Amino acid sequence: MLLTITTTRKPATDLGYLLHKHPDKTQTFDTGAGKAHVFYTEATDERCTAALLLDIDPIELVRGPNPVLHDYVNDRPYVSSSFLSVAMSRTYATALAGRCRDRPELAKTPIPLEARIAAVPCRGQDDLVQRLFTPLGYETEVEDGAGGSGKGRYRNVTLWATKTLADMLAHIYVLLPVADNRKHYYIGDAEVDKLMKRGRGWLDDHPERNLIVRRYLGHRRTLASEAANQLDAEAGRDAEPENAENSAGTRRKEHPTLHDERIDWAVETLARLGPASIVDLGCGEGRLLRRLAERPEFTELAGADASAWSLEMAKHRLRKARKNRAGPDRGVELFQTALTFRDERLEGYEAATLIEVIEHIEPNRLDTLEEVVLGRIRPAILLVTTPNREYNVLYPGLEAGGLRHRDHRFEWTRAEFRRWSERAAERRGYTVTIGGVGEADDTRGQPTQTGVFERCG
Ligand code: SAH
Repeated sequence: MLLTITTTRKPATDLGYLLHKHPDKTQTFDTGAGKAHVFYTEATDERCTAALLLDIDPIELVRGPNPVLHDYVNDRPYVSSSFLSVAMSRTYATALAGRCRDRPELAKTPIPLEARIAAVPCRGQDDLVQRLFTPLGYETEVEDGAGGSGKGRYRNVTLWATKTLADMLAHIYVLLPVADNRKHYYIGDAEVDKLMKRGRGWLDDHPERNLIVRRYLGHRRTLASEAANQLDAEAGRDAEPENAENSAGTRRKEHPTLHDERIDWAVETLARLGPASIVDLGCGEGRLLRRLAERPEFTELAGADASAWSLEMAKHRLRKARKNRAGPDRGVELFQTALTFRDERLEGYEAATLIEVIEHIEPNRLDTLEEVVLGRIRPAILLVTTPNREYNVLYPGLEAGGLRHRDHRFEWTRAEFRRWSERAAERRGYTVTIGGVGEADDTRGQPTQTGVFERCG
């Protein structure tokens, strides 16, 4: 199988810097299932083409120390499949990561690129390659790869676009196994992580997002559907500050997102009030838990969410954070549960948090949520955050009264949130202090509303 990448941006031989492979050399890498050779078929100022040739050993696939197939007669050695993605990550790791030691600015510059991929197995679904690549801004050409009958399962694909090399490599890396719809390795945690990492910035908005997620995750239905939800949720959460920031012309990294500010607020508030044990209700992907786990004063931490996918992501994130950190290793308990039913595992924590969760609950279930959280869990401290609907008109796209996320069942004005909070506090024997997070508007208040509930006695 063969992948060639060409640029015509002068001096085209800069491709060698971008790929970290010298145009005069042939290099060979071991990929586990065979050898990957990288060499240049042309290298002039005007045009430079690097080829990645993957030479899979069909016997090794079946008989080697790590057999991945059970059948000697298979198409795997010859087609562009997940083996090619693995080979790309072994040979072009630095380029995929968007790094370039000698030409750092070039790695961030969109350049004219052409990629040719031989024998993409797409089972005769001719339009699939277009559906996958066209929305990302590629011009595509799909030719029959098996003698021109038009009925074959394999297609030679050419892609053209002006993009950063890292973006194009990430697209090919994710979408090749999607076109093939078969993966040669076990699909587990690590795959989810790879999809999130390589799909960042483009997968959310892709019209075939669900198909991509489903196929990439090998049809593990629960994972895939939860992945889709998660991407939705991410998009929704990011939509608030991104929209706002884009209009201000600033970028996320330089400017904390509203989501970051909310988490900072929760961490600071908890640090000030000083509980030792905390349960994060509706913990999502565990971003708050990760921050709390960095602080030794919080000795017992737990998260609860209805979404198996989110908990999987949380587990992953917490495990990674633990690996990277010296110091005491503290486990975080994660529970899959619905907050509208009593669950004794959540009881006994001094503090609880509901960060951007209540608006996901049907209004007629809010009394039950209140009973479960303030009646049963009965933490000494409860932090609640929720969007301030009055602020929405300030977000481009929400001027007409839309909500910030399609899973939101409601968004409250400040008066509505205050009314709900004060009534719940009064009924359950708490005091509540209402506040906000985010840049305040004179008339519309802050984008996020907060409530700090403290148990009386
Ligand atoms: N607190 C997290 C996630 C907010 S998104 C953060 O700020 O990043 C809302 C989360 O609430 C989702 O992860 C969703 O799965 C969860 N959720 C919604 N309804 C729920 C319910 N009834 N029971 C448990 N979790 C629920």
